[in-house]
Formats: sequence, C-alpha cells, structure tokens
Amino acid sequence: MKELETKITNWKKEETKWRVVVVQMADVQKYGIMKFLSENPVLGLDDNILYVQVHMLPPMAKSDRKSNKKTLVLDLDETLVHSTVNKPLKRHDFAIQCRHPDGTSIYYVLKRPWVDLLLDELRNLYEIVVFTASNKEYADAILNKLDPHGNIIRHRLYRDSCIQLPGPKSKPVKDLSTLGRNLRKVIFVDDSYRHHCQQENAFPVRRFLDDMNDTELLSLLGFCKRIANSESDARTLILSHAISRHNGCPGWN
Ligand SMILES: [Mg+2]
Repeated sequence: MKELETKITNWKKEETKWRVVVVQMADVQKYGIMKFLSENPVLGLDDNILYVQVHMLPPMAKSDRKSNKKTLVLDLDETLVHSTVNKPLKRHDFAIQCRHPDGTSIYYVLKRPWVDLLLDELRNLYEIVVFTASNKEYADAILNKLDPHGNIIRHRLYRDSCIQLPGPKSKPVKDLSTLGRNLRKVIFVDDSYRHHCQQENAFPVRRFLDDMNDTELLSLLGFCKRIANSESDARTLILSHAISRHNGCPGWN
C-alpha cells in the first residue's frame, strides 16, 4: 500500500509532467484509492486499467476557496512582458540569462505598463496563475523578477503543461480544462488566446511589444476588480464587458 501511495503522491507532485495516470484496477480495489479518483476525472477503463486525468494545478488553497476566489490565468510573453534574445531592446527593465545545450543566452525584458500594479492589486482578490508556453528556466527567471517574494503568483505552468498537437509546425496549445478549476470562475488573459482552447474565458488583450502608452492591463485590472465578487459566470461577464466597451472592441472580433 505504501508503495502505491508514494507513487501517487509523486505523480501529484510532478503533475505538470503527467497528463494521464494509469492505475491498475486491481490496485484500486486493493488499496482503496477512491479519494484520489474522486478528485481526478476518470477518462476511461480498458482491460482492467483506469486512465485518470491528473489536474495541472493542486486543489485551490483553503483560504482562496473560502473566499470564493476566481482564478486569473495569465500568459507571459507579449501579455505581461516582451523580451528579445541577445540583442538589447532600446529600453528594457532587466536582463536574464538562460542556459541551453549550445551555451547561454541573454534575454532583455521589458515589462508591460501597469503589470506591477495589476499583480499587486489582484494578489488578494484572485488566485493568480501564470500559464506560459515558454520553458521553465526562462519563465522562472522572469517571474522571479515580477514576483520576487513569491507571494503573488500561486502557480506557474510551463510549456510541458500545454498540449502538443500533431504536425511539425503546430504550436503548444493551452487547454484550461486541464487546470482542475471550474471554468465558470476562470479568466484567461493571453495575447494569442485565439490559438488556445476555451476562448470564451479569454479577456482579450493586444500583443505587447514596446508601446509604453499601452493600457490593456489597466483595463484588465478595472474589469477584474469590478467582477471579483460577482457570482455570475466569468464567461458571461467577459462577453458583457466586450459588448459594453463597444462593438468593435479591439482584439474581440
Ligand atoms: Mg503570449
């Protein structure tokens, strides 16, 4: 029994690396791991093997659950920051260094206007998750600058949490249904949300490169503060917001 429990604990710890867990039916009956199964959707049963989808995120913290928080899922590149590799931007806020098989690269990173205010003001109102299609080393180096004390962003998901569709040119796709959160309570912010699943959860923002007059995150902040305590479906609120801004809301076509 211990062995199976350890196995499952390790799976859950490394959940960003595991999309589907295979559990032998015999083990389920023998060890009574029904609690684990009740928290993770069973995808199917085949030849006495259970296929269980493990959520990308651990259960929401008790305090967040108690205060009925929504989850704000933020993309990184061209949503919160813009970076260039080995070539300094005209202006940048900081530089990071990343190793790769052929050596080291330096990334020059420009923060999107209002990003610090957004994170600071929403840290207690939302469960903030950054979900990026970039790799962990690069993303962590940037997120450690945006959240130096690690008390703003609850969870970080990287490329290995995306779905890789078949085809040599296919881009990693984010599927919010793998998060383990009620999609009624998820707001997704990504400059390329059209490439991902659950577009109805997306608060549209334009791609950020270097426009220092950009106010997209300020609009997002206003919206998030307004609806933080709303009981309505986040997808309906996002749609209403887009309609009320005006019919030709930028990024919402
Ligand atoms: Mg992006």
